[in-house]
Amino acid sequence: MTIKAQRGNQLRTKGWRQEALLRLLENVLENGEDPDNLVVYGSLGKAARDWGSYRAIVDSLKVLEEDETLIIQSGKPIGIVKTHSSAPLVIMANGNLVGKWATPEHFYELYEKNLIAWGGLTAGDWQYIGSQGVLQGTYQIFKSIAQLYYDNDLSSKWILTAGMGGMGGSQPLAGKFAGASILVVDVNEENIDKRLSIGYVDKKTDNLDKALDWIEEGKNSKKPISVALIGNAATVYQQILDKGLVPDIVSDQTAAHDLLYGYVPEGYSLDKVKEVRTQNPAQLEQDAGQSLAKEVRSILAFQQRGSKVFDNGNNIRTQARRFGVENAFDIPIFTEAFLRPLFERAIGPFRWIALSGNPDDITIIDDYILEHFADNSIISEWISLAKTQVPFQGLPARIGWLGHEERTALALAVNDLVAKGIISAPVAFTRDHLDAGAMAHPNIMTESLKDGSDAIADWPLLNALLATSSKADLVAIHSGGGGYAGFMQSAGLTIVADGSAEAAERLSLSLTNDTSLGVLRYADAGYEDSLDEVEKKGIRRINTNDFGEVGY
Ligand code: NAD
Repeated sequence: MTIKAQRGNQLRTKGWRQEALLRLLENVLENGEDPDNLVVYGSLGKAARDWGSYRAIVDSLKVLEEDETLIIQSGKPIGIVKTHSSAPLVIMANGNLVGKWATPEHFYELYEKNLIAWGGLTAGDWQYIGSQGVLQGTYQIFKSIAQLYYDNDLSSKWILTAGMGGMGGSQPLAGKFAGASILVVDVNEENIDKRLSIGYVDKKTDNLDKALDWIEEGKNSKKPISVALIGNAATVYQQILDKGLVPDIVSDQTAAHDLLYGYVPEGYSLDKVKEVRTQNPAQLEQDAGQSLAKEVRSILAFQQRGSKVFDNGNNIRTQARRFGVENAFDIPIFTEAFLRPLFERAIGPFRWIALSGNPDDITIIDDYILEHFADNSIISEWISLAKTQVPFQGLPARIGWLGHEERTALALAVNDLVAKGIISAPVAFTRDHLDAGAMAHPNIMTESLKDGSDAIADWPLLNALLATSSKADLVAIHSGGGGYAGFMQSAGLTIVADGSAEAAERLSLSLTNDTSLGVLRYADAGYEDSLDEVEKKGIRRINTNDFGEVGY
């Protein structure tokens, strides 16, 4: 079945807020990696539990009143309740398991019984906007490596990485944007072709020598090139090592977190993966684990030879350690190594989606940002690049890293442009779960926090409660699933700018409070920049140290 998000100004629901959420649901499937199975990205991140659930959600959104709330449990709608017009239209909890039972084995058992689903970070709550969603994040990582280690110039450098799926597919474009030549390995030619067709990668081949020649040419001429190589990363990384080559940057963004659905073992075809998964899942897990361990040993060897290496959020180090690579954690995590200074000020991935389907609406917002955020180099540099070079997937959308007060200011300005009819239809704002106050993941987002509070999951739960109290239109609490089971807790929110005064209030409260909590979370962990942000922006922090020891 082909799902496409409705465009234009025709409503199928009782209001724009409901229509917006319906279009966002359709949009994640329009952009999804395996829409027939409702899979959006991340090997198993689903938009709805099953097709019956999908149809029931669509039907519910069509009849939902302004003062009602639809409740969704792991992709399955379970009821509609009367609330009030300031309450979220949709609340959801996806993939959450009680601590002791939060293991991949237990997750898969429940998944097979169709009792649970994994929402990824942006699939289950209908926020995914295609590979662009992590494009700026990956670009920021490469830029940061360039600044830290390569005199801010990657033009004669090259990156080796793997994975051309929903998220990984952003890597070739991000590498080129950062000025480097980049080689990306993937076993699935179809996935490579998808990114070729939308201009995210320049060339493909199944011949390693040819790929390396192209990279060499790109480096020597200082004209960055992106190359996709059809192959298995475990094999190819070792071959590159054996040739004595040392890439300047090495990473991986295969779906390594999931050894049953995500990482393909050496010597396996895609059909063989499916067959062994049904007949002997334990064997598949073993073989995937061994191959992944081999790949990680190669990454560590590259590190020894001088490459800058990092884990890009796919739990590859954790899996490798399980399969005997004791020093896998010598590889740093991208958040701690490169992005934490941004999160300390709650600067993180924020998105806006033109519900009209009209790219001009995004161009108007691009131009607004270039004019009004000119002093903010992170966003203005990014928007200049994105405006001319990032192709849209599905409904036209943009990601932009913005911080406290900045997100609110942009959203209110857009709401105003919608009200004046300058933007042709409402715009939805969402932010990735991978954000300052919205995620606890001790091997990704919260690794090595200053105060050791890495595994405390209160923050994302507070984040969701706060979003609900602050009038967001959709609020989601996500956890684990597959290989991440027991590893993470996160929260997400969506608010619709329909041009109304009520929308302005919803945007102002939810976005300001969301980033306030982000700053407070890092301030609580003792980060100086967050304390500075608290001071500068007048965030009302309560410091219990001011109240001394037990005192009554
Ligand atoms: P996906 O399932 O859409 O794509 C994974 C790709 O890896 C597929 O194309 C697959 O063919 C390829 N692959 C698997 N095993 C391989 C092997 N051995 N050699 C070469 N290629 C192989 O997944 P995705 O949406 O691209 O996500 C990738 C990973 O990134 C996931 O673990 C996801 O959870 C993580 N992620 C990170 C961030 C972040 O902010 N850093 C954000 C979202 C997701």
